[in-house]
Amino acid sequence: MSELLKLDGIGPKSLSKLNSMGIHKISELLLYYPRKFKYYDISYDENCCMVGKIITQPMIKYPRRNLSRITFSIVSNEIIYECVLFNRQFLINSLKIGVEVNVTGTIKNGNQVTVSELFFDYRPVRCIYDLKDIPKSVFTKALRSALKYIDIIPESLSTNTISEYKLIGLKDMIRIAHYPKDINEIKHFLRRAKYEELLKYQLMLKYRKNEYERDGVALNIDEQKVDEFVDNLSFKLTDSQTNAISDIVNDLSSKKTMNRLLQGDVGSGKTVIAMAASIAVISAGYQVAFMAPTEVLAEQHFAKLKRHFNVEILSSSRKKERADILGRLAKGSIDIIVGTHALFQEDVIYNNLGLVITDEQHRFGVEQRKKLRAKSKVANVLYMSATPIPRTLSITLFGDMDITSITELPQGRKEIDTRIVKDITDVFLPLTDEIENGRQAYIVTALIEESEKIDLDNAYRVYDSVKSNVTSSVGLLHGRMTHEEKNEVMTKFKTGETSILVSTTVVEVGVDVQNASMMIIIDAHRFGLSQLHQLRGRVGRGEYQSYCYLVSNSKQEKASERLNVIANTSDGFELSEADLRLRGPGDFFGVRQSGFPIFKFADIMDDMKIMRFASEDASKIVYNINKSEYKVYKDFLDKIVIT
Ligand code: ADP
Ligand code: MG
Repeated sequence: MSELLKLDGIGPKSLSKLNSMGIHKISELLLYYPRKFKYYDISYDENCCMVGKIITQPMIKYPRRNLSRITFSIVSNEIIYECVLFNRQFLINSLKIGVEVNVTGTIKNGNQVTVSELFFDYRPVRCIYDLKDIPKSVFTKALRSALKYIDIIPESLSTNTISEYKLIGLKDMIRIAHYPKDINEIKHFLRRAKYEELLKYQLMLKYRKNEYERDGVALNIDEQKVDEFVDNLSFKLTDSQTNAISDIVNDLSSKKTMNRLLQGDVGSGKTVIAMAASIAVISAGYQVAFMAPTEVLAEQHFAKLKRHFNVEILSSSRKKERADILGRLAKGSIDIIVGTHALFQEDVIYNNLGLVITDEQHRFGVEQRKKLRAKSKVANVLYMSATPIPRTLSITLFGDMDITSITELPQGRKEIDTRIVKDITDVFLPLTDEIENGRQAYIVTALIEESEKIDLDNAYRVYDSVKSNVTSSVGLLHGRMTHEEKNEVMTKFKTGETSILVSTTVVEVGVDVQNASMMIIIDAHRFGLSQLHQLRGRVGRGEYQSYCYLVSNSKQEKASERLNVIANTSDGFELSEADLRLRGPGDFFGVRQSGFPIFKFADIMDDMKIMRFASEDASKIVYNINKSEYKVYKDFLDKIVIT
């Protein structure tokens, strides 16, 4: 028999409703906190909240089916108010002359109140619960009788934590949650609720991180090979790059499995780091899988890697070679395999996979990350991202990884001259100049999501216009093309056969053509700041002064504010902070579908400081630095399922 049946007013019917809310025990009921608190102030303008005595007999009318209307007068502070209450016919018997009520609503003409809420007592704070279909009166009655069992619930935070952060105890939490006296109490409640919520989230991440790292193999790396590769580069590595390589080599040669995010601005030189990591792994006798978000990028990496490695590519345009490549991969006679997520299809079997590299990892959501983990088993994973993420946000999104940030660009990079123009014809003159000087240019047209046809029409319009006004040597890349067609267009642009590349798609973010010196973005206001920054990063990779034109005739203030930010800032970290501020975390590179956590009390932006504490505390607990605390959270940790 469920212990919930001991509570007042709970029978089989309300029991099953509680169960459907995830409440199976008395303690779970007590810990079922309100979704939010609503504050009532006896002060008003349009909205009012007042306590008054009913002075006329309430009248009920039914003007239409499904519409009831109760009217009555109250006196409050010696003023008479005419109240109207819709669709609350069940209250008619409780509303009587002389009864004191607390009403909230909107006030018109000085004394006409359309009532939105009516209570029979006044409280400055009320609790709003997610109750599904259990009546609030049943829920609160059960809750009241549950309070006498409050002692059965063990404190869920360690004494250390409670005293360090001056938090209130669990019993006070429960009392305040359901019967708050005032706003000040709620502040105390929320402080602890937020911390507790974020600590649990971080414990889950760190626990997962700890599990990932287990059972690693210490690779026996020939560091001389790595040094040779670095020495033979035509440039000198930046300090950030050198540090990144040493972070990676340390991870690989230690017994823990690497799970590292390498983030660095566009053009910061992440590819050579990936190559150095590959050399290290291959020198120890293991294979590398190099995963790109699109086939075009996979082809590009393949072309680069071919110069240094025994490498093959799995792609839909090379079906014929597939069986042969899979055979050699399984035998271990291929060192690196490049491809999209197809690298982890059922039939792809590795001889000795030691490292998985994923480029532009923001395209791989949390779910894909999990799958990749499962497939690669003990393999080390290096995630590369060109979307710098503000540190505090990365604690939230990537708390289950180690993070290396490249904070500088190679020396001698010229700042990209970024300008905002109203119309594409405004760029024809400078564009023609660049092309005549032997440079190349990208033109990207925005995706308007509603219709692929509109996107295509837009691209063709731009393509035709450039062709007749600037040069005939233009290529067009769009989402409806096959891989072969895309490759052909890309190759022509890379080899300089075409001077301008018009593209509908922002998918090909990683392309590297050093001769390109101009990026033109049509309807720039439709892109996020980080996306614009990414696109701009396609130029300025060689020795030439480069330009970025943001074409937009949007009259929205917010849009021009954003474009000004990008025109005046070249630092990717700064931009992503601004992007996050301007767009909010939900839209920030589509975080919602990439498994962004949703918290009940904490706010991702406002409570970053608490998140930071929670993250540090969780690490100490999970890595058992703080053994006594570990015991407190053990039950919780034991329940975490690693997938
Ligand atoms: P991203 O980090 O955007 O992937 P890439 O790895 O494509 O950047 O590097 C951009 C360009 O800069 C490449 O052409 C690369 O060869 C070059 N590069 C990388 N590191 C350095 C360096 N330390 N000095 C000069 N050029 C570099
Ligand atoms: Mg790259």
